[in-house]
This record gives sequence, structure tokens and C-alpha cells, in this order.
Amino acid sequence: MRARTELAAGVYGLGTDIVNWYVVEDGGRLTAVDAGLPGFATTLEEDLRQLGHAIDDVEAVVLTHSDADHTGVAPRLREAGARVLIHQQDAPALRKPGPKKGDASPRHMLANLWRPLTRAILWDTLRNGGMHPSKVGDPETFSDGDVLDVPGRPKVIHTPGHTAGHSALLFEGQRVLFAGDALITHELVTRGAGVRLMPHFVNEDNRACLASLDRLEPVHADLVLVGHGAAWREGPAAAARQARTAAMAV
Ligand SMILES: [Zn+2]
Repeated sequence: MRARTELAAGVYGLGTDIVNWYVVEDGGRLTAVDAGLPGFATTLEEDLRQLGHAIDDVEAVVLTHSDADHTGVAPRLREAGARVLIHQQDAPALRKPGPKKGDASPRHMLANLWRPLTRAILWDTLRNGGMHPSKVGDPETFSDGDVLDVPGRPKVIHTPGHTAGHSALLFEGQRVLFAGDALITHELVTRGAGVRLMPHFVNEDNRACLASLDRLEPVHADLVLVGHGAAWREGPAAAARQARTAAMAV
């Protein structure tokens, strides 16, 4: 685990060098954005204590999508009283996890094992229990445009492609956009060159990923936070344009 970092007032990053998850504080209560890998549960209470919080301060877990490296500690937080929310199209995979569909079949993943990011995510996943994805049987669901009644009141921006229900979350008060896996800034993919789409073989529908950039481009935010990689501080428009240009060049 890396040090917990305050990325903006009341916005904290947790997880490892490979897999991020976040908490947002509003009025002393917390919303978790994504939930990392299952193994993060072993340090969960200590992680929250370092932020000055107890586990039952987490009022809600809002998931950008249903992949195993984003849902890990959701059941533990649910047990401690948190609500768990996900887009209606990803709810079935949270209730009953299974292999990804479309362009992201396990066969494509295996064919790309030689890539550094694939190996890094796989290694982190193996170490942190991600081969046994977490499930939540009773998630609440949301749709595009909903403003969620949880701390920070994020607005849902449906950005399908990585999964069918993948959604970005805009915390307007904090001016923070959580882009999940609609974008990646991790240097194993970008080689230090900013922001990209996730590699094609982990996206269920690459054309939809590209189209979803149009939804992120007009968003007003100071900070873009992603599932894998560092904070991006040049705004959603520049991020979307850069990811689009790189994707078109392939
Ligand atoms: Zn991910």
C-alpha cells in the first residue's frame, strides 16, 4: 500500500501503485469512489483511521463499474452499513461476477500478457485476492444524469465502453471528476505522455470508449482522478482530446 494522499480538499487517494480507489469527505461523512481489490480489506480500517475516520463513517460506495479491481472492499463497507451504488447495466456483474464480454474476452487478455500493464495489474490482482471478485447482492442502481443522494452529491455521467454500465462521477462542489477506467494515466500505458484510453483488450467495446470521450470533454473540473495512474490536473477537455488523438493514431 502506498501513503494515503489528499488530492484536493477532502478528497483522498488509497490503494497501490497500480490500483486506485478514493474517498470524498463531505460534512464529516464519506463516499468511497470505487473499492479497490478484495485484499485491501486487510488494511481498510487502518487506512480510514489515518484519515481520521472510522469504517462506519463511509455512508456510500459509488462504483464506476463492476470490474474486480474496483469492487474489492465494497462488501466489507456494506457490512459496516454503507450503501453500494452502481449503474443499472453493471449491477448484474456485481451481483454475480463473471468474465468480461466483447472485445475484452479472457483470450484477448492472455494474448496481451507480455505488456507491462497487464502483468502489473495481474500481479496486483493475484496478491490482493482479485481472482475471487467481490460480490454485492443488493446494490442500488443509478442512471445517466442522476445526482446521487450520498456525501458530495456526485452527478452520474454514463461513459460506456470499458463496461456497458461504466460511469464517471462528477463532484461539482469539489470540482473533481472521477473517470474510473474511461481514461488511464498510468505510465505503464502512457510512458509518461499524459492520458490514454485503457488498452483495447480490457474494454468491452472500444468504439464506445472513444465515443464516451465526447461526454467527458465538456465537463468542468480541476482534477481528473482515474482507476490506474496519477491525478490529472489539466482538465477533462485536454484529457479527452489527448486520449482521442492517441487512440486515432493507433
Ligand atoms: Zn480497473
